[in-house]
Amino acid sequence: MARKTLDELNLHAKRVLVRVDINVPMENGHVSDATRIDKIVPTVSEIMKRGGFPVLLAHFGRPKGQVQRDLSLLRLVPELEKVLNCSVIFVADCIGPAVEAASAILGPNQVLLLENTRFYAQEEQNDSNFAAELAKIGDIFCNDAFSVAHRAHASTEGLAHLLDSCTGRLMELELKALEAALGDPIRPIVAVVGGAKVSTKLDLLVNLIERVDHLVIGGGMANTFLAAKGINIGKSLAEHEMTAIANDILVKADGCSCEIILPKDIVIARKFEANAANEICLVDGCPDEAMILDSGPATIAQIINIFEVAKTLIWNGPLGAFELEPFDAATTAAARKASALTKNGALVSVAGGGDTVAALSKAGAADGFSFVSTAGGAFLEWMEGKDLPGVAAISRV
Ligand code: AMP
Repeated sequence: MARKTLDELNLHAKRVLVRVDINVPMENGHVSDATRIDKIVPTVSEIMKRGGFPVLLAHFGRPKGQVQRDLSLLRLVPELEKVLNCSVIFVADCIGPAVEAASAILGPNQVLLLENTRFYAQEEQNDSNFAAELAKIGDIFCNDAFSVAHRAHASTEGLAHLLDSCTGRLMELELKALEAALGDPIRPIVAVVGGAKVSTKLDLLVNLIERVDHLVIGGGMANTFLAAKGINIGKSLAEHEMTAIANDILVKADGCSCEIILPKDIVIARKFEANAANEICLVDGCPDEAMILDSGPATIAQIINIFEVAKTLIWNGPLGAFELEPFDAATTAAARKASALTKNGALVSVAGGGDTVAALSKAGAADGFSFVSTAGGAFLEWMEGKDLPGVAAISRV
């Protein structure tokens, strides 16, 4: 059964509690990047157009159940008014009589913004009484905060059990993209997993080998796999305590007919710094005093060949130490190829999590992907095959 969207609900004269993610970066008291605020516009505007009254619920920072004036949402009112082009009324609480009264008298072209939900410890505890207090403020719950959907909090999960609930437009977009990549993808499907450590991406690797046809492993985590295969990796970043697990993954992948692609040639340097003297060698050519900082040209060519036959790509993590030039070469070349194939309609490409967005943006390739998720933790948990509580709790059609 499908989840309810805004399409299935009559919003006229209804107060709609919208959980949004407006946890934006600030500099000197001003919003320095309004991307997250821009993204809530479709849902909030639609609710107003359809005669509903949006009441925004959101967290900001990590106040850990304490009122912290520097984490008040009050500071976002000017930016919200600008972006939403309407008047934004702020109440310095998120539950209680003052909030209920403000919600009851909301008029057309007005949005009510409530104070940081995390000022209450009960929010992160998913306390049922607190969720019931939140439910008193509205008639409908609309969750548009995919990026916090992996948290079972009162405003992301508890509330969905108390009111008729639906996904917002942004959440819908994110879910559609992820379902296209991992739900019922067009094969062949290739995953790229890079980044620093195997230990932080173990669940991800295990889930992917059961689902994808090719798994490209790069970055620091590839070093752990190479070491597990008995290859000398010199002073490279690696988790030697993970070698047994890495071998286990290689064996499991074999059993699932998932082809693992590890570097066959490498870029090595003696220093972990930009423009360090470097050379390309075969994967078994790393001297004791050197470290592997990127995949070499033969590996890049192999990855590109796989991209050319693939129909779906999932990408998390850089293929090398991409912040340091020229060790961004493999990440940049592969990202640009994926972007070009996607633009030609040959590939569905979904990327996200950790440093991925920064790496693809640095390569100038992020715009070409079918979907780049900015939801770090929620994106990773989805790719790991876990149920996201904030998504699972939404009413079914
Ligand atoms: P993650 O947050 O796990 O996606 O890891 C991203 C980080 O891994 C980035 O800061 C990269 O510079 C780093 N990284 C990737 N490849 C290597 C490598 N071969 N050696 C050291 N660090 C690397």
